[in-house]
Amino acid sequence: MLHNDKLEQWDRENFFHPSTHLAEFARGNVPHRVITGGTGCHIEDRDGNRLLDAFAGLYCVNVGYGRSDIADAISDQAKELAYYHSYVGHGTEASITLAKMVLDRAPDHMSKVYFGLSGSDANETNIKLIWYYNNILGRPKKKKIISRWRGYHGSGLMTGSLTGLELFHNKFDLPLAQVLHTEAPYYFRREDQSQSEEQFVAHCVAALEETIAREGADTIAAFIGEPVLGTGGIVPPPAGYWPAIQAVLDKHDILLVADEVVTGFGRLGSMFGADHFGLKPDLITIAKGLTSAYAPLSGSIVSDKMWSVLEKGTDENGPIGHGWTYSAHPIGAAAGVANLKLIDELNLVENAGTVGAYLNKTMTEALGAHANVGDIRGEGMMCAVEFVADKDSRTFFDAADKIGPQIAVKLLEQDNVIARAMPQGDILGFAPPFCLTREEADQVVAATVRAVATVL
Ligand code: PLP
Repeated sequence: MLHNDKLEQWDRENFFHPSTHLAEFARGNVPHRVITGGTGCHIEDRDGNRLLDAFAGLYCVNVGYGRSDIADAISDQAKELAYYHSYVGHGTEASITLAKMVLDRAPDHMSKVYFGLSGSDANETNIKLIWYYNNILGRPKKKKIISRWRGYHGSGLMTGSLTGLELFHNKFDLPLAQVLHTEAPYYFRREDQSQSEEQFVAHCVAALEETIAREGADTIAAFIGEPVLGTGGIVPPPAGYWPAIQAVLDKHDILLVADEVVTGFGRLGSMFGADHFGLKPDLITIAKGLTSAYAPLSGSIVSDKMWSVLEKGTDENGPIGHGWTYSAHPIGAAAGVANLKLIDELNLVENAGTVGAYLNKTMTEALGAHANVGDIRGEGMMCAVEFVADKDSRTFFDAADKIGPQIAVKLLEQDNVIARAMPQGDILGFAPPFCLTREEADQVVAATVRAVATVL
């Protein structure tokens, strides 16, 4: 435990925290919290509180905290070889082994993995590869990327543009011109309440077709989507959505990027969302679950179809002009190898599916009938509770009501449980580590019931 009286002062004076209200933090209205340790699904803070982390950090500590297998692998790698680059054919035992392990788990039609550091840079890589691919194929106009409103794909210039949440565009001069947004498959918030799920899927498909017809298929390179919308509100797609979207993309020769930063390596109870929904993506983005956040590492998994064109491109143009100093960093790679082994050994993908289903079921039983709970939804180890001001008239809360944040604060204050108030303001999200037990799921549900009763 740290005993530094100045830590709060140093924090407020020096630390630029991401995704934080900077002025409120400086004024002391956003809590200063120092996390000191963790085991399993729990973390500890500097004041000695033990907290049940029902969001796995930022849905990334999938195997749980305090795994010495991964810590030892990191330490051994750092002592043996902390760094060597992966340019011009170089590699390390860890990075080559991890590439093999990733491809062994990925859908059969995938060919290679390019390693980066974060989900954002992996998606930046994807877009560059897509543009390169179309240039090599002699289609220089085919460059626009379609993403969905409420999608989250990162915070870079391109990836912040792909992200379909206004907060990430506002005052940053985003989105960039090459990005188009289309309808989110958000059945609960559909405009036309009379639509069945099937009709709503047809409506989403029609919206996509309209965009393609308006812009011209020869200008559209790719479509990017999370198999289950994450930061945009934890929204599983209605049945039939992905096959219908994939059919449109195939018809117009538009590539599909499955952004599996959250869903990759087991969160849905399947190794990948692509397997879960029967998708055939051309690129798969991986990050969080690759190392369970024990070290920063991400990847772009490239399909056979794209790979052959990339190879041809280098025959025509020389080495691919894209690399990060820390691509395939050996310490991240060692963490990845140990993490994927642990997921297999502990059967954590299956546990994410079964205990995740239990969490969703018990949450629905406990809160589904509440007058201010409009929707409870989830898939695998992801669950969301969406609050409404009035259920019958479907009146939504104003974002300024901050219902989600208020309930999240109560959960923490009353029961030491961490959930995430999703950026929309009226959704509480749960995405615990895969090692969550049924007893811990019961605690999360009981605490949520109490917190909701306190606020609403
Ligand atoms: N894609 C998805 C689906 C994400 O959820 C995130 C982060 O939450 C990202 C990309 C960006 O990843 P990172 O924050 O590691 O840049």
